[in-house]
Amino acid sequence: MNQIKTPLIVANWKMNGNQLLCRQFSETLECPANGEVWIAPPSLYLETLAVDKKLRNFVRVGVQNVYGKSSGAYTGEVAATMVRESGGTFAIVGHSERRTQFNESDSFIAQKFYASIEADLIPILCVGESLEEREAGLTYAVVEQQLTEVIDTSGIKYFHKSVVAYEPVWAIGTGKAASPVNAEEVHVHIRQVIAKYDDQFIPILYGGSVNENNVGELWEQHNIDGFLIGGASLNPHTLNSIIGEITR
Ligand code: PEP
Repeated sequence: MNQIKTPLIVANWKMNGNQLLCRQFSETLECPANGEVWIAPPSLYLETLAVDKKLRNFVRVGVQNVYGKSSGAYTGEVAATMVRESGGTFAIVGHSERRTQFNESDSFIAQKFYASIEADLIPILCVGESLEEREAGLTYAVVEQQLTEVIDTSGIKYFHKSVVAYEPVWAIGTGKAASPVNAEEVHVHIRQVIAKYDDQFIPILYGGSVNENNVGELWEQHNIDGFLIGGASLNPHTLNSIIGEITR
């Protein structure tokens, strides 16, 4: 049992939810005994949560994606400065659904990361391997490439203002979470990659089919500092249970 860690829980609603869900969260979500809860709704609901009289006392809100430029002719995109002005304080960048379905490259993601830092948002950089890459023994190499592209673009000084999320692609939305041992191994590797630059602490979250039944044993791992949660974060009662499992 780890007594010292305080968890960071990030809820990624993906393209789900509505104003009713925002109200349900306001009515039901409980302030954690320790640790932090961050919510990334679809960006149109950001302000609703940010100004909510109850949630604003203990929840940070942010976005699931942001563009890498500050303004201009980029129809449909949202700049990090706009997120900040609307009450957001963090941005998820490099989620595997963006990498695969929207062909986002490491260098494109590095621009989003840098733009977030410049706008005073905390970037949550998602890294992780596909099933084919894992089976080919490429997990460490893939994760290292995804990290170094961003560190080299932003500089390690800026990188320290971020959060990293290890999200194996094969575990996202599949119901097949990484085993605690497998997750811990990759988290250790991520720390070693960052330590090549310097040894300041950066929170490393695990994401991929986390729920109230598996969160406890994942949390036992020394290098898991919290969780990025998709499907299970859409129900405020479930989120309360997950938080309760690791903050008792
Ligand atoms: C995610 O969307 O980042 C995620 C981890 O999803 P899920 O928890 O549903 O696997």
